[in-house]
Amino acid sequence: MMEGDKRSFRRGEIILRQGETGRSAYIIETGQVEIYYERSDGRIQTIGTRGPGTIVGEMAMIDEEPRVATVRALEDCRVLEITREDFSQHLESTDPVVRMITEVILVRFRDTLTRAEILHESHSMTRPESLERRFMARTDLLESVKTANRFRTALENDRLDLHYQPIVDLASGKARGLEALMRWTDPQLGTVPPSVFIPIAEENGLLREAARWVVRKACGTLARVESTLGTKEEMYISVNFSNQDFVEAGLAQWLTATVDECSIRPEQLVIEITERILIQEPDTTRRILQDCSAAGIGIAIDDFGTGYSSLSYLQYFPINLLKIDQSFIRSMRAAKRSLELVRSIVGLGKGLELHTIAEGVESVEESDLLREMGCESAQGYYFARPVPGSDVVGVLGGTVMNGSG
Ligand code: C2E
Ligand code: CA
Ligand code: CA
Repeated sequence: MMEGDKRSFRRGEIILRQGETGRSAYIIETGQVEIYYERSDGRIQTIGTRGPGTIVGEMAMIDEEPRVATVRALEDCRVLEITREDFSQHLESTDPVVRMITEVILVRFRDTLTRAEILHESHSMTRPESLERRFMARTDLLESVKTANRFRTALENDRLDLHYQPIVDLASGKARGLEALMRWTDPQLGTVPPSVFIPIAEENGLLREAARWVVRKACGTLARVESTLGTKEEMYISVNFSNQDFVEAGLAQWLTATVDECSIRPEQLVIEITERILIQEPDTTRRILQDCSAAGIGIAIDDFGTGYSSLSYLQYFPINLLKIDQSFIRSMRAAKRSLELVRSIVGLGKGLELHTIAEGVESVEESDLLREMGCESAQGYYFARPVPGSDVVGVLGGTVMNGSG
């Protein structure tokens, strides 16, 4: 058992205070404590409560920075105080392997926190006081670790979900494809948007497995929808890939085997990637794309026009579809430059024999304009919002959607 002094705090007493340099951590033996911090605007922000068996103020074991929060006893408490000296003595006398591992972990943790703080600083527009900034960066980091763990559990227990948004042929008004979009509702965190959980899953190495889950599930849904509607081999399913889940040997073989298991053809699967992947790992990506393309799988560039790359990559990679980013569609009717940009992309698509899909179409005017320009397909709330797998047949039932000319 760790050496340390037993101490008692009365209800309402402060155990450690924001701004003070900490030298001790406290293991709570009995009672409840509350953790909070004062923001730069003077407001008090509560973080939570802790009870017996938990530890507070542990950062004092790592660095001599001022405390980022205050801990107060909510009831009479008994705690075990561990000073940095107690901790070092323990490390000295412990098994050398345990010591080395502990020291390495602590140094890494400190580095991670420093990186999180720098990142947080560069992201925040307003620069709050340094203590608050440090606290928020640490909270962000801890939150993202927690979110990643919960996401992992959801993935392992098949508790993720997919919604599907129709991709509509502008000339006929018929749905030609479906984009699969991941959804996650956690019992504690509630509904977490993909813009939050996708980057966290990627950073924590969970997206590779998640992408495979998406492909299996999405291909199964397409097969089921087609057999219900009697539209065999007419529609495609489009699946998003990020960097980590894409750059992987054997991906093309795995995709081909999976479509086969689901009784759909490789031509009915489209993979959506961004320009970022093409720039970051051009050679590996090219090999994977060539294998996919040779197998018949379609390749779409997502958010086209928002990347920083040159257009020359369009001849280096085997690409079939361009998805025009919704930001251009959104501003198309108000800003002439956006309109001309969309027109140029559609023209580029025609010249290079690439199918163009407009994203985020929300009105009949946008849909009409795009059809007049010669854009082939569109996707957006005007036609249909993303729906759960069980509603796809209902949404496609009429087959001719808004916007048919
Ligand atoms: P994205 O691939 O560009 O997907 C289109 C996003 O636009 C979706 O947001 C969709 O719900 C939304 N959207 C569709 N039509 C409209 C419209 O008319 N107006 C507006 N304002 N929005 C529209 P969502 O589902 O929140 O997904 C956000 C992003 O998360 C996706 O952007 C994609 O980058 C990523 N994502 C979603 N599912 C997956 C996945 O399975 N794997 C990977 N790697 N990324 C995914
Ligand atoms: Ca997409
Ligand atoms: Ca997109």
